[in-house]
Amino acid sequence: MKTALITGSTSGIGLGIAREFAKTKQYNIIFNGLETNGQEIADSIAKEFGIAIMFSPANMLKPEELRKMVSDANAKFGSIDVLINNAGIQFVSAVEDFPDEKWNAIIAINLTSAFYLTKAVWKGMKEKKFGRIINIASAHGLVASEFKSAYVASKHGIVGFTKTIALEGAPFNINCNAICPGYVKTPLVEKQIADQAKTHNIPESEVVSKIMLAKQAVKEFVPVETLGQLAVLLASDGATTITGTAIPVDGGWNAQ
Ligand code: NAD
Repeated sequence: MKTALITGSTSGIGLGIAREFAKTKQYNIIFNGLETNGQEIADSIAKEFGIAIMFSPANMLKPEELRKMVSDANAKFGSIDVLINNAGIQFVSAVEDFPDEKWNAIIAINLTSAFYLTKAVWKGMKEKKFGRIINIASAHGLVASEFKSAYVASKHGIVGFTKTIALEGAPFNINCNAICPGYVKTPLVEKQIADQAKTHNIPESEVVSKIMLAKQAVKEFVPVETLGQLAVLLASDGATTITGTAIPVDGGWNAQ
């Protein structure tokens, strides 16, 4: 058995990724997230797939909580083989009105937490000569959209971090890749749909077709299963030479 730690895995994309890892029955999973029913969610996956789990409510804004999550996981499972930095938040505003505290929170949660966690798992992966680090970036790690300055900066930042860690990890069979999804229908996006409908005074269906999916050639939300299956591939033993990449799964958005 290997062990995978997935941040923000009690909702949306993280939960979808956790399900794909659980399906393989080859991983213990450390769940994390701020959802108050996080333990229940983790327990239900453990029961459904017959795997061992741990749940940690560690807050990405608190480095000491992140380090404790890693040491608790090491104590329970012996090592962490796969780290998936997925927890993230969004805030949409013109730069002139962008609240300082939202900027700082987005950079801390979407980018800096990945640094703290990579640092915390590094020694174990290096000693084991095996590690897989997967950062859930975004299509916004490769291109920009207006009114998302902090988010786009954090996601471009994590793509750069991914490349550096790939270089530093190569001698130790630690690979590091970023997955760059287009729009995925999760609570994070559902909130944006509702906000935009209010701002533009149009129905939510029009927000989806005319604003959200306008940049994707494939006019469909990206399924979480696709992201989970890609993450399982990147975590596999055979994926050593896939490293330092930022893989778009965005319905052709970045092809334009
Ligand atoms: P979501 O809101 O459904 O889930 C986010 C998860 O992160 C939740 O479990 C939440 O509790 C956790 N989280 C947030 N702040 C935290 C904190 N301070 N400490 C600990 N956990 C925290 O969102 P999602 O859409 O599943 O997003 C997951 C990741 O995918 C994010 O990094 C997001 O930027 C990225 N992403 C999402 C989309 C999309 O369209 N939904 C597209 C591209 C990239």
